[in-house]
Amino acid sequence: MSNKESLLKKLCRSTLDLIFPEEGVCFYCDEYHEEVKEDHVCIECRDKLLFINESKCPVCGKPMFQGNSSNRCSYCINKTFYFKKAISPLEFIGPLRKTIYRYKYESKPYLYKSFGEFMLHALEKESIGTIDIIVPVPLHRARKAERGYNQAELLAKYLSEKLCIPLDNKSLIRVKATKIQNKLARHEREQNIKDAFKIKDNWVFKEKRVLLVDDIFTTGATVNECSRIMVEGGAIEVFVITIATGRNT
Ligand SMILES: [Zn+2]
Ligand SMILES: [Zn+2]
Repeated sequence: MSNKESLLKKLCRSTLDLIFPEEGVCFYCDEYHEEVKEDHVCIECRDKLLFINESKCPVCGKPMFQGNSSNRCSYCINKTFYFKKAISPLEFIGPLRKTIYRYKYESKPYLYKSFGEFMLHALEKESIGTIDIIVPVPLHRARKAERGYNQAELLAKYLSEKLCIPLDNKSLIRVKATKIQNKLARHEREQNIKDAFKIKDNWVFKEKRVLLVDDIFTTGATVNECSRIMVEGGAIEVFVITIATGRNT
């Protein structure tokens, strides 16, 4: 009996270790560093991350290297966005690409803790007013079953708990099993995602100011389509927060 118990304990511990690295372990290099805090990143790895500063587009949030950052960037100037503003703490380049890949495709759900912390800090710097509800971009149920979790939902839950704003992960649903967006060209992304989402209960977003959460902002096609559905469903304003955004190309 006692042998069985200890074996069970051992198994539990090894499973937990796999799911949650020990305290003080940097999520980016997997090594222990005394200084690692709630953002779960060591000084060296943090230096390799590209944080977006004040020089960014006021609408899509992409970094701007020239021009006036009170105007929209050349990428989004002629686009119709249904969200008011998109915010990302980081640029989607360098070692962060690998870490986000691990988060999405290599069963490392715990990484949300680090990304969520960066997103929280980025939100604190913005004046977006009161948010009524936090909504994650939904995954199609087949993909969620395959992955075991929705990466956007874990981030949304984290933000909801930290900001004490209710989470709604039920009302916006994905009704179309779309192809993976990163394999498609810009115009194909918009086509692929069109009519992929629906609102479960009509008018649930009526007069709400929504914070929509996703992992990466590339062309913005996915968050824009979700925003369109919610705005047409009565939302006053939708703000978008993602971990990272691709450069304006
Ligand atoms: Zn590190
Ligand atoms: Zn822009």
